[in-house]
Parts: sequence; structure tokens; C-alpha cells
Amino acid sequence: MHKTAFAELLSSFWALTPQQLAQLGTAVRNSERRVEVVPALDARCGEEASRGCPRCALSKRCRWGHTRTGAQRWRCDYCGATCSGLTGTPIAGIRRPDLYIDLVRNMMEAEKPWSYRKAVEKLGISRHTTWRWRMAIIRLLPGERTGAMSGIVGADEGQQRESRKASREWVRY
Ligand SMILES: [Zn+2]
Repeated sequence: MHKTAFAELLSSFWALTPQQLAQLGTAVRNSERRVEVVPALDARCGEEASRGCPRCALSKRCRWGHTRTGAQRWRCDYCGATCSGLTGTPIAGIRRPDLYIDLVRNMMEAEKPWSYRKAVEKLGISRHTTWRWRMAIIRLLPGERTGAMSGIVGADEGQQRESRKASREWVRY
């Protein structure tokens, strides 16, 4: 956000009602959770940057600003392709990666993972999205749960295609 716009935003807080302040608090907490996810993804992409461009593999990537979620964006010198730590993961294109991570953690780490219905209720997102996320995570579930988080974040393209196919199949029935 631009500095001036942010200053205006801050100065508008005095006019809020107690109820609006509570809503603002919730929005801030959601944003904080989203921001927490970013460093892990950045670290992963930083490692991969030394391996070269994912599209042409011809050149090294250099830093190229930040994405809307605040993650480092990279750009290939040769073909101009841009990517972030999210590219090529099931989280790419997900607007609420924090909720996705919540679901991953629940499915991998909770003693009693949520049922599908419970997940819809807890995450507060659509039933279809919840189902797609669950399918994607199930595809990635390793035999043992240890180190599962790195498996999710590091998922490859093939696994993504699998989960898309699975969600299409679900739509059909
Ligand atoms: Zn390239």
C-alpha cells in the first residue's frame, strides 16, 4: 500500500464504532496469519532460485518485487517468466493460504482431524473449495505424518495435476 494511503487509513481509525473496531481486529489477525506463511515459502523459492528458471532452465532468476501477499517474486533474465515461492505448489492461486495451511496442519497433525463438514464450518469458506483443498492434501499425504508440511509446500506439478483431476471427477458426480 502507498505511504499516503496508509497514513489516511490509520487516521480514519478514530471514527470507528466499537463494533467496527472488533471487525478490524479480526481482519488484522487474518492478515497476520497470512503473512506468517510467507517466510516459509520465500525460503523454499530462494533455494530453488540457484537452480535456475522453472520454465526455460536457461538462466538464474533475480528478485523482481513482491506479490500481493508480500512474498518475494522472481524473474528470469532470459525468458521473462516470473514466479514466487507459491508457484508450482497447491497453494498457488489460493487467496487465503493461511486457511489452507490451517487445513493442512489439521489433517496432518491433529489427533482427530476435522470431518469434511466440520472443516467447512471451521474455515468459513465454500464447500467446494474445502473439498478441493482436502482432495489436494489427501493426494499429498505421505505414509507417515512427520515432515508432512515440507511435503505440502514442496509439492510438484504432477501432484497438482492429480488433484485437479480429482476435483473434476468430484464435480462430475
Ligand atoms: Zn526462463
